[in-house]
Amino acid sequence: MAPYSIAIIGVGKIARDEHLPVIAHDPNFRLVGVVSRSGAQVEGAPTFATPAELYAAAPGLDAVAICTPPNVRHRLAREAIDAGKHVLLEKPAAPTLAEIRDLTAHAAERGRVVFAASHSQYHRPVEPARLRLLGRRLARVAIEWTEDVRVWHPGQEWIWEDGNFGVFDSGINALSILAKIAPGPVYVKSAELHYPANRDTPIAASLVLVSPAAEPGAQLTAAFDWRRSGGQTWRVDIDVVDGPRLSLVDGGAKLLVDGRLEATDPTTEYADVYARFAELLARGESVVDSASSQLVADAFRLGERKIVEPFLW
Ligand code: NAP
Repeated sequence: MAPYSIAIIGVGKIARDEHLPVIAHDPNFRLVGVVSRSGAQVEGAPTFATPAELYAAAPGLDAVAICTPPNVRHRLAREAIDAGKHVLLEKPAAPTLAEIRDLTAHAAERGRVVFAASHSQYHRPVEPARLRLLGRRLARVAIEWTEDVRVWHPGQEWIWEDGNFGVFDSGINALSILAKIAPGPVYVKSAELHYPANRDTPIAASLVLVSPAAEPGAQLTAAFDWRRSGGQTWRVDIDVVDGPRLSLVDGGAKLLVDGRLEATDPTTEYADVYARFAELLARGESVVDSASSQLVADAFRLGERKIVEPFLW
């Protein structure tokens, strides 16, 4: 079958780190252009200043991958669907659940595929972790997702803008893993959000979670912090009743069972994101993971806001 023609909208860190190299190696896709407000150049593909110019120049284009900040995605995704394109959305899919629902419904009405990819769920060890947890009772969940914002979001002012997510921009990765592997639904019970005095989004957050699949009194917690310097910790530890401790570490790239390595990801999770997108396109099926977005929305709704030191790059 001919490869799907695809274009990238927003050529920033994640487009260059993952989307462009993965597309270049995936025979299911052929890059036919990029849309870049800043005129970013990508070898072998023309740059367009706006999506409208791309759609006019490439009427046969099958799909776009939207790699911009979240707060502009809904508008760009609707525009793409209206132009007859399938859409892959980076995470977080959109600032509000209403926008996510609208995109799902709009794509269905127009017969287009929308794939809101929670990339961390596509680390291969995540599925064996899910299988190990099926039917189990949770005794403890401890998420630790701490990193240096200057390393992972260098100079990205948008992360501090209202309508974007602050520390949840990366914390949502952990929540997407938990939502996928937990043996039952998980809800936010309470949260504390730390806002730098000079910013509109949190730099750190701690969540207390509950689940009907947890034992009474079980502690389910998540700690997100961007103030770390030197390295990062992206891990989810889960204890179950009468079972081993599962630890997904390195963002989900490794599964430890009672500290012993049981599964590892030999590739980048983005290769599997694009493999899945190709499958969904072939089937004409949309997948939108909104469980992690729901948890983030609830943390913002319930969270107690604390003001902390101003953040300067
Ligand atoms: P980034 O480096 O700032 O890139 C985003 C790009 O989007 C910008 O370079 C710009 O590209 C375009 N853009 C910026 N503001 C825009 C606006 N208001 N309207 C339209 N386009 C705009 O950010 P990133 O790190 O790639 O993150 C983008 C998304 O990917 C985020 O949702 C993030 O959560 C997700 N992600 C990031 C990482 C990571 O390691 N950083 C990992 C996984 C997922 P042009 O100048 O080309 O238009």
